Amino acid sequence: MAKRMTKKEKERVNRIMKLLDNEYGTDNICYLEHNSAWQLLIATILSAQCTDARVNIVTKDLFVKYPSLEAFAAADQKELEEDIRSIGFYRNKSKNIIACAKRLVTEFNSEVPETIEDLVSLAGVGRKTANVIRGNVFNQPCIVVDTHVKRISKKLGFTKEDDPEKIEYELMKILPQDHWILYNLHIITLGRSICTARNPQCEKCFLKYECPSSGY
Ligand code: SF4
Repeated sequence: MAKRMTKKEKERVNRIMKLLDNEYGTDNICYLEHNSAWQLLIATILSAQCTDARVNIVTKDLFVKYPSLEAFAAADQKELEEDIRSIGFYRNKSKNIIACAKRLVTEFNSEVPETIEDLVSLAGVGRKTANVIRGNVFNQPCIVVDTHVKRISKKLGFTKEDDPEKIEYELMKILPQDHWILYNLHIITLGRSICTARNPQCEKCFLKYECPSSGY
């Protein structure tokens, strides 16, 4: 979409936000089960290239076995690998989780930091994970760009970019700030149900009259 939006484009964006709100509500929900900021951080690191449902199955036992950041910091890497084996990239994830937990314990007083700079300085934490934490834990307006947001934002004509960081900045210019956190949640729900990667069902989609990819 153009850098400077026309009035018409702004109105279309607002109509899309309203349609999403009407369909999915305005509650902030998090699909990754957690009871604390550090649990969400670890669950989000685990969720790369893996479904939230699978992560939730694994973390149910994992957070009992390792009930604190200190426990993760002291974990044996091979043992942790076995604990998270059913999740992809378990070797890297295991290494990153231990390194991340160690730094949180030693340098951040066992607290999850709030700023994007501190968050992305942690092992295994990129912008996407950092924004999940900023939005869900600290309620800071930010846009999480995952595979659904990337794909569907293109379909909606909000971006032509491929790079998640560029998409994030472009969406920040286009979307009203009070929808930054919700947009990701709504688009994930849409992407898992109607606008799937393999088979977007435009005929069933409540956005079809606003979406340039629908053919309506
Ligand atoms: S109209 Fe089609 S392409 Fe557009 S968001 Fe809906 S399912 Fe996806």
